[in-house]
Amino acid sequence: MAQQPPAGGRNCPHCGEPTGLSLLALLPAPNTDDDFKCRACGGHFKLAERTRLWSLGGGLLPLLPAIYLFAHFSPGRSGAITAAAGLVVVLLSFGLGSIAAGWLTLRLEPKR
Ligand SMILES: [Zn+2]
Repeated sequence: MAQQPPAGGRNCPHCGEPTGLSLLALLPAPNTDDDFKCRACGGHFKLAERTRLWSLGGGLLPLLPAIYLFAHFSPGRSGAITAAAGLVVVLLSFGLGSIAAGWLTLRLEPKR
C-alpha cells in the first residue's frame, strides 16, 4: 500500500488515515472553534483556514443567482408557496455550494 503523506490532505494530519469527517462539518458554522476527532487514532484536528473561507465563499456564490431568480419570479403568484420554495432553494444552494467548495479545498490541520 502506498503511504500517503500525513500532512496537507483530506486524511488525518496525525496518522494519515481517513478521519470519518462528516460532510456537514464543511458547512460554515458560527462556532469557529471547530474541533474534530480522528476515527482512526483519536487525534484532534481542525479544518484549515483556507477550507473554511472557501466553504463560505462556495456557499455565497450560488446564493446570488438563486436570490436573483427568487426575486425575479416570485412577486405576485401564490405568495407563501413561492416564498417557501424560494427559501428552500436558497438554503440548498448555500449548503451544496458550501460543501462542494469545502470538499474540493479540504485540508485538515492538527489541533494543538
Ligand atoms: Zn488519525
